[in-house]
Amino acid sequence: MKKKESDNLMDKIVSLTKRRGFVFPSSEIYDGFTAVYDFGPYGVELANNIKKEWWKTMTQYRDDIVGLDSAIFMSPKIWEASGHVKGFSDPLTECKKCHARLRLDALLEEAGIFADEKMTEEEINKIFEANRDKVKCPQCGATDFTPGKKFNLLVQANLGNFTGDWTKEPTYLRGETCQGIYVNFKNVLDSARVKIPFGIAQIGKAFRNEITALQFIFRTREFEQMEMQYFVKPGDDSKYYEEWKAARWKFYLDLGLSAANLRWHQHENLVFYAKEAYDIEYKFPFGFKELEGIHARGDYDLTQHSKFSGKDLSYLDPTTNEKYMPHVVETSAGVGRTFLAVLTEAYCEEELAGETRIVLKLAPKIAPIKIAIFPLLKNKPELVAKAREVYDALKLVWRCEFDDNGNIGKRYRRQDEIGTPYCLTIDFDTLENSEVTVRDRDTMKQEKIKITDLEKFFREKI
Ligand code: ATP
Repeated sequence: MKKKESDNLMDKIVSLTKRRGFVFPSSEIYDGFTAVYDFGPYGVELANNIKKEWWKTMTQYRDDIVGLDSAIFMSPKIWEASGHVKGFSDPLTECKKCHARLRLDALLEEAGIFADEKMTEEEINKIFEANRDKVKCPQCGATDFTPGKKFNLLVQANLGNFTGDWTKEPTYLRGETCQGIYVNFKNVLDSARVKIPFGIAQIGKAFRNEITALQFIFRTREFEQMEMQYFVKPGDDSKYYEEWKAARWKFYLDLGLSAANLRWHQHENLVFYAKEAYDIEYKFPFGFKELEGIHARGDYDLTQHSKFSGKDLSYLDPTTNEKYMPHVVETSAGVGRTFLAVLTEAYCEEELAGETRIVLKLAPKIAPIKIAIFPLLKNKPELVAKAREVYDALKLVWRCEFDDNGNIGKRYRRQDEIGTPYCLTIDFDTLENSEVTVRDRDTMKQEKIKITDLEKFFREKI
């Protein structure tokens, strides 16, 4: 039977990911570093598999999208052009009792009052004043706060600036990856033989000085984005927007998330240049929250960069000779949030012979380890040698793990907890008839397979 109690599900996921080496708090031996996390040995495999699936879906399977890997540091002028230096901010308030720094829009939302991070300081403070009695500090319960103040989320750095007071002319760690795509639009156009409509996809780190970052890897100050900008002819926006909405929804179903745990959220308060904005939300243990944003951004970004750089970024249609500024449909997802969503979906506890079996029912294609290979007994050299031989062959194709520690039951439990879909045991019969026992993680059913058929068997399954 499957048990899922959402109240402590989050604690269970945090504990499992630490215990089994998926996620570690950053700088732990130095008492940690707020809102930054490290991926451990299994975490890096899972994150890489998620990225691989995204990259394949967005580039390899399409002939209209190319990839890019732009640098984290860019000219600071880019962040002025994009509007981040002036406008990339969240409203910050401080609890006067416990001095917790909190995001005002989130506080109001918690209290059931509509607010948005895009509101001006004045707008949001007006709502705050009118609802003072309804808002409580989530940390100490007090109701006395400082007025909301806009706090810029860009992370500053002194790269290449050797003056004492570099904060006057800072560089920035990128707040989103897509600006690297916009500023390379012409380079890609001139070199990659692409024609509109086409897209540029990129996976990379982004940095934001998030005010509150309390939900594990959901909101971190350093994170990874998977973004794609699709450049279209003005007027074609809605057609491609709908196509991308459908494609991105399907991506999450293909990763193993269930439709019942996904929903659309339409932005009520669009930024002035946006034509349409929806988020795909996932039901995390702490409620439905944004997993990915899909935005029709018009020609805002290319126009801004044309203005600020003085370089014409418009497009000349080679067949019709029409010249126009392309419009953009953007899909913007987070690696960390997808990682947490697939873990939330996969985490199961089952009663098994009076004990609790914890199992991560991850889709095999994203499971960190695909196949675990066990010799039945550690002290029988002929079993160990045979198991090594099978392991050495399969590891060339899939990420495998060899384990000869403890009894088989314990080895199964360990692989269940890290989501390994198949365990394979070599016993004395194997030496006689070249058959191994393959055990399925979800059904726990076992079947005998000939060693020579293993590759074919797993190719069909994984
Ligand atoms: P939120 O409203 O939750 O702060 P956002 O609307 O600012 O998110 P976008 O700027 O649209 O997010 O970024 C696109 C995607 O990048 C998000 O859907 C999310 O998956 C990821 N992302 C953004 N900020 C963070 C963060 N601080 N930590 C982890 N992932 C993030």
